[in-house]
Amino acid sequence: MPLFEYRCESCGSQFEELRAHNATDPVKCPHCGSKDVRKLVSCFAHSAGGSLRASAGGGNGCAGCGGGTCSTCGH
Ligand SMILES: [Zn+2]
Repeated sequence: MPLFEYRCESCGSQFEELRAHNATDPVKCPHCGSKDVRKLVSCFAHSAGGSLRASAGGGNGCAGCGGGTCSTCGH
């Protein structure tokens, strides 16, 4: 099951959640319970261009991408 990164639009916190590809239940923020969350794509976008990765860096969970050991995207 892939691990996805999400950002809560209500409280701004980021969190990771294991989600099946065919999961249909809404993702909820573990901090405030809001369902207004957005899936982060920065981890995948960096393969298309480095600028996105740089702006999304800083310990957001994809720092391991450079070492090939990212548990989020497997890169
Ligand atoms: Zn929240």
